[in-house]
Amino acid sequence: MAIQVLSDLVVAQIAAGEVVERPASVVKELIENALDAGATYIHVTTGGGGQKLLRISDNGSGIRASEVELAFARHATSKLRTAEDLSHLHTLGFRGEALCSIAAVSQVTCTTRFTDEVHGTKLIIEGGSVVSRQSVGAPAGTVLSVENLFFNVPARLKFLKKDATERRQIAQTVMQMAMAYPGVRFVLEQDGREVFRSPGTGKLEDVLVAAYGVEDSRHMLPVESETGGVRVSGLTASAELWRSDRSRINLFINGRVIQDSNLTYAVTQAYQGLFQQGQYPVSVLMIEIAPEEVDVNVHPTKAEVRFRDPNKLFSAVQRAVRDAITQTGLPIGYQSGPRTLGGLSAPRPQPMLNLGVEDSPAPNVARIAPDGPQAEEDEYAHIPEGAGAPDNPRTLPVLRVVGQVGARYIIAEGPAGVYLIDQHSAHSRVLYTQFRSQLASGTLKQTDTLPGAVVLSGGQTRTLEQASLLLTTLGIEIEAFGPNTFRVLRAPSMLDGFDSDSILNAVLADLSADDPQEAVMRGLCRLAAVKAGQVLDNNQMQALVRQLERTPDPFTSPDGTPTLLHLSSDQLLREFRGR
Ligand code: ADP
Ligand code: MG
Repeated sequence: MAIQVLSDLVVAQIAAGEVVERPASVVKELIENALDAGATYIHVTTGGGGQKLLRISDNGSGIRASEVELAFARHATSKLRTAEDLSHLHTLGFRGEALCSIAAVSQVTCTTRFTDEVHGTKLIIEGGSVVSRQSVGAPAGTVLSVENLFFNVPARLKFLKKDATERRQIAQTVMQMAMAYPGVRFVLEQDGREVFRSPGTGKLEDVLVAAYGVEDSRHMLPVESETGGVRVSGLTASAELWRSDRSRINLFINGRVIQDSNLTYAVTQAYQGLFQQGQYPVSVLMIEIAPEEVDVNVHPTKAEVRFRDPNKLFSAVQRAVRDAITQTGLPIGYQSGPRTLGGLSAPRPQPMLNLGVEDSPAPNVARIAPDGPQAEEDEYAHIPEGAGAPDNPRTLPVLRVVGQVGARYIIAEGPAGVYLIDQHSAHSRVLYTQFRSQLASGTLKQTDTLPGAVVLSGGQTRTLEQASLLLTTLGIEIEAFGPNTFRVLRAPSMLDGFDSDSILNAVLADLSADDPQEAVMRGLCRLAAVKAGQVLDNNQMQALVRQLERTPDPFTSPDGTPTLLHLSSDQLLREFRGR
């Protein structure tokens, strides 16, 4: 082949491979742009693992009508003028590559209005070429939609992982950005469902509750230290809480998410003697150093950084974490009473629903597992089992779901009127029936629980040890893990997505009952059932109702409370006609 200079598009596509590895990297770049533009609210919407759709809306400055095309040109940036500037950057972006690279390998629609201008601009670019531009009315800020990522780079497309994996990566990215910017409100919506929302209170604790749930959050200790010009602050887990991978060690340098195996090692080193091999902490560490001390321009994704004095960084991080876990004693969660953080009462983490809906993304994306085959299987572990199996006799007529009220009741209609269904009671009933029948037929299915051990009191330990046979019968396998420290290894499959802490809490609460087996069974079903306050989508509601329709004794929960109210057509007529 004769030598030829590559066309701009090919250059852009090749470069795109470096900046844009996968949907999560697009999300990261676009969030960085929104933050650089001063946004205080960033809404991320994804569809189909992000490959089909990524949309980032922000309320930042917007782009001037005269500069919109320019923003998509290679090496076009408003953040850097000279190489000198690189050493004292105050923005996340600076290479002027992201928009150009993303637009080269997808179909981009950019709707933006600069704060001081009256009209907005809508620009559509496909595979790097502008296909349309119009002046539009738009709120100040920017909405960037990226559709069909890699549509023109089939080789890249093949490298994308399962949607579930990509979704998880995106969630991790959004959560990390939210940790780095607790003052900014982030919302992440994946396939039509809100999976994460940070309140923008400016408190890291609040972001952590939103990302990892209260159970993890209440074991966190504050980190705060400054040595030799390195400031380390944030939160790190007390020695009672550990995970089996490093995915919850989050490191930030000067507000930038970084990956650095050396510093990650510094964090795990701080737990030496407290954790065993294969145990890793949850940690969120903000490291601040003078910009001259760090080079962020090592790689286009800016996730790798180089330090002038890596050893200084290593020991500063290790010392800061070590001090936090050895000095202060009480996890922050206990300072303001259990189950609350920073005085703000925290929502219960939402467990995964097991309502028999195919591939419904977990409402609790806090479950970010490491990449790999195991992780992929986990994602699908909650897919339906035969509760309310189709061959069970019907106990209710066919019901059509109309909607949900108060995130608590399902309204359904049937041939004989209207039904108001208590979602929690109804789901408890369905799970209980399923649990009983699996136990009776010896077909109980189990699931691995989330990692993490629990420290119990002496009394609780004795209660638990006395009940060990009963618990094994019920499919709960517990491992002693140290003095008074236990871990639930496996549990009935309805408890997929729960951790040892919540399972043991439920079990211990019921073991003292007159009929402990029955009480524990009911307690576990209550734990696994959807909660009041949990928003369900139509498929989930329909799946629950379908199961209830074929459940013996559908009218009461295992605890004897009503599951549904029936308003017959006659009754309704009477009420409205007044006779
Ligand atoms: P960089 O961020 O490295 O400057 P990008 O390609 O990501 O390069 O963006 C190019 C330019 O487009 C930015 O410098 C900025 O001026 C503008 N821009 C991009 N996204 C936004 C946004 N969400 N709001 C306002 N301006 C933006
Ligand atoms: Mg950028």
